[in-house]
Amino acid sequence: MACLPVSDEQLERAAALLRTGGIVAFPTETVYGLGAVAFDGLAVARIFEIKARPRFDPLIVHVADRQQLAQCVIDVPPVAERLIAAFWPGPLTLVLRKCEAIGSLLTGGLATVAVRMPSHPVARALLERTGSPIAAPSANPFGGLSPTRAEHVAAALGDRVDMILDGGPTEYGLESSIILIEPTPTLLRHGAIPVEQIEAVIGPVQRDIPPGSATLAPGRLPHHYAPHTPLRLIAPERVPMQERTEAASLAFRRVQSGYRAALALSPSGDLRIAAAHLFDALHRLDAAGATRIDVEPVPESGLGSAIMDRLTRGSAR
Ligand code: AMP
Ligand code: MG
Repeated sequence: MACLPVSDEQLERAAALLRTGGIVAFPTETVYGLGAVAFDGLAVARIFEIKARPRFDPLIVHVADRQQLAQCVIDVPPVAERLIAAFWPGPLTLVLRKCEAIGSLLTGGLATVAVRMPSHPVARALLERTGSPIAAPSANPFGGLSPTRAEHVAAALGDRVDMILDGGPTEYGLESSIILIEPTPTLLRHGAIPVEQIEAVIGPVQRDIPPGSATLAPGRLPHHYAPHTPLRLIAPERVPMQERTEAASLAFRRVQSGYRAALALSPSGDLRIAAAHLFDALHRLDAAGATRIDVEPVPESGLGSAIMDRLTRGSAR
């Protein structure tokens, strides 16, 4: 997807704001992030406030390079090294043991920190100019739809952030995949890198978190990524015409008829295209004044698992 250029002047202003405790929304290849300098406890606290995010839900720290990574974590175990070599810079987040400098507000009191090195040129330039790792959750109110365009951020949080860098629509449109490295590599969140690709590099990863270890995986709430309009996962052929008039529809390949508003994610059935359009389509349908949004399930392989994860949580009430 086309990436809009951001001027040197804008980047310099954004970096200066961050260095002095400001909050800047910026594009990454996954979704838009709400950034603060990771070592600035007050700025990090403001992120939680702006998002109305519960304190037990830790943030992801973004780094430009190995040097910034070393400022956040105690060590990089061999399994993590292999993932870094294969997927960084890119949409894979690793959970590693944190350094002293990373505050416990940022990590929700955990001894670990989630880190990733983004590939988006604007995110990278911002990290380099700021000269510090940047903590950044998605730039939306907690529990709502993730922002894949600067307009989504402006609509939801425009009056509460110091600046929004507009880099155009994001490439993946889905959050990063998250892997806990120790004691056993475990998938904490399906995301922009399919778990099959991760397993091709490090072998089988645990996909179910053992009961009782909820603190290893905070933020995996059953109700998340939700539009204001109720979402229902249902195969289009099961919805009679008379139930469609007041509702909206989000189909996988073919736009459905009879709805007040209807979109399809990818006419060619390409899951990568579907993922990139998912949140934007939901934002649009959410604004259509419909009584509900009927969403067609997508095949649960590759990126389909991450898409279905968002849709299942988004439809949970
Ligand atoms: P986001 O809202 O996209 O910034 O994602 C943050 C998510 O990363 C949280 O909701 C957690 O599920 C996960 N996470 C962040 N830090 C940790 C950590 N130290 N241990 C386990 N999961 C983490
Ligand atoms: Mg989020």
